[in-house]
Amino acid sequence: MATLLVRNATVLVTMDGARREISGGGLFARDGVIVEVGPSASLPESADEVLDLSGHVLLPGLVNCHHHLDQTLTRALPAAQNVNLFRWLGAHYRLWAARTPEASRTATLVGLAELALSGCTTCFDHAYVFRNGCAVDDQIAAAREIGLRFMVSRGSMSLGQSQGGLPPDECVEDEDAILADCERVIARYHDAAPGARLQIALAPCSPFSVTPELMRASAALAREKGVRLHTHLAETVDEERYTLARFGKRPVAYMEELGWLGDDVWFAHAVHVNAHEIGCFRGAGVGVCHCPSSNMRLASGIAPVRAYRAAGVKVGLGVDGSASNDGNNLLTEARQAMLLARLQMSLRPPEGPDTTLSTSDPSRDHEWMSAREALELATLGGASVLGRTDIGALAPGYCADFFALRLDDVSFAGGLADPVAAALFCTPGRAAFTYVHGRPVVAHGEVVTIELPAVVAEHNTHAARLAALSGVA
Ligand code: ZN
Repeated sequence: MATLLVRNATVLVTMDGARREISGGGLFARDGVIVEVGPSASLPESADEVLDLSGHVLLPGLVNCHHHLDQTLTRALPAAQNVNLFRWLGAHYRLWAARTPEASRTATLVGLAELALSGCTTCFDHAYVFRNGCAVDDQIAAAREIGLRFMVSRGSMSLGQSQGGLPPDECVEDEDAILADCERVIARYHDAAPGARLQIALAPCSPFSVTPELMRASAALAREKGVRLHTHLAETVDEERYTLARFGKRPVAYMEELGWLGDDVWFAHAVHVNAHEIGCFRGAGVGVCHCPSSNMRLASGIAPVRAYRAAGVKVGLGVDGSASNDGNNLLTEARQAMLLARLQMSLRPPEGPDTTLSTSDPSRDHEWMSAREALELATLGGASVLGRTDIGALAPGYCADFFALRLDDVSFAGGLADPVAAALFCTPGRAAFTYVHGRPVVAHGEVVTIELPAVVAEHNTHAARLAALSGVA
């Protein structure tokens, strides 16, 4: 029985039911699970490990609901810098398919390291290109090595260009092989128990890279095995045109026809939806992963997060692909969500009949996304989207997943009147400590579970090989 005592945080943000913020707060955990949270004086006086967080703000670990860690190999690719999603994918597909298992390992480590340094403790990775000897096992081994809580999809693409899909034929897989590997990966790795550190989801990639048959078969298999379902949806106007032309339906109606609207499903992006479709998500219990940086980077659009929240749709945050962001910083992503929601206020018609209302009108005060609401999206919101009730808050029974920021960092200078809000309003700083299941992944601002400089160096040799394939010397 290993115990951990964290104490003296200047402010501890619980995200519990009462949204308590505790001055001088701390927590006591046993075997990676929180037993007590409260003022430090109320906690046990000793433990196997004691972490004093005087001068820090302590927050629940952030939950990343949509990512593609392998894309860390292809960040800022010249051919993909100034193009929208379909052309961006076209510039990348063959490079991703050409990665090796060793490259995938280093990309996973680098991406997760950067995420951990931003306070992220749980990451879902939407892996979907499995060629050249790569398998989801490569990433699972890497995630275990660095120590983040990991959920990964045995994703898939099966609809190549010759069949009317977007990806080149050499980047897609046979559907029987996909489904067999899905079964293998679920049986070998999926942990459904509370406190699980590794879970599997099924995630055929998108309506334009997967056949309807594979979408249906994936849903049936996921439900038979009790794992969650995920895909990209309604990301761009191009996708909407595609499903209308090919299937005669808008993306959400197409997914409904395939049996994909359920409370075991979450969609990445969900930018281009109407009021009826938002109601469908709410009615079915579908979750949404908002990826603001990627949506800006690719000029995809602005997801109606305020409308989702008002309707009661579950919303979490995702960094999305390292090559459409091009970072792995979830705290920055929470900041982007806050800022983009505010920009959206100026772009859309105000609520109510008076179309002359400006953003300065007090009747619109409820539309402003606060820093705390953005933090909620990144913690509890993400947990709900991933179907977890044991992460996203610091409260008894929850996993001891947390991070701390130093308040004497230059990024907080002048923002100490409200350090919780300053964590987003000011430039998001680097986590001083990030703990997953009661164990440190980041300590004193450095990743402690892997030799990061060596991994980055190896990663960059793999990345250079892929860049050369793209014609970049
Ligand atoms: Zn994505």
